[in-house]
Parts: sequence; structure tokens; C-alpha cells
Amino acid sequence: MDNLFSNELFEIPCPKCKKEIQKPLSWFNKDIVSCPFCKAAISTRKFRAKLQATEKESARVRKQL
Ligand SMILES: [Zn+2]
Repeated sequence: MDNLFSNELFEIPCPKCKKEIQKPLSWFNKDIVSCPFCKAAISTRKFRAKLQATEKESARVRKQL
């Protein structure tokens, strides 16, 4: 996928410090991201389905424009 969705924000709770991490979808493209608050390594794998659903929804909305 290209960066069509890079501006779309996505939010995940950090499994370690429990803070909400809000970043553009493109930020989650990596398998492992680090929490901006506690630097914990977070696997994006378990959020993948939700991420893809958000991307799909975003693409669908864009097509209608
Ligand atoms: Zn954290």
C-alpha cells in the first residue's frame, strides 16, 4: 500500500504504560513500533486486523469523494 492513508489517525493503548498512542496509520506499518511514552516495543500484529479495517474504510470513503 502507498501512503494514501498516512493522514488517517489510529489509536492503540500501550500494553505497558496504558497510555493511548495516537499516530497516523502509516506509523503502524512496521511490525514493531516503540511507545513514545515508555519506549516499550509493541507488536502491531494484534492490531493488524483493526488497522486494515480502518484503512479499508478510509479507502472506501475516499472513493466516494
Ligand atoms: Zn508505553
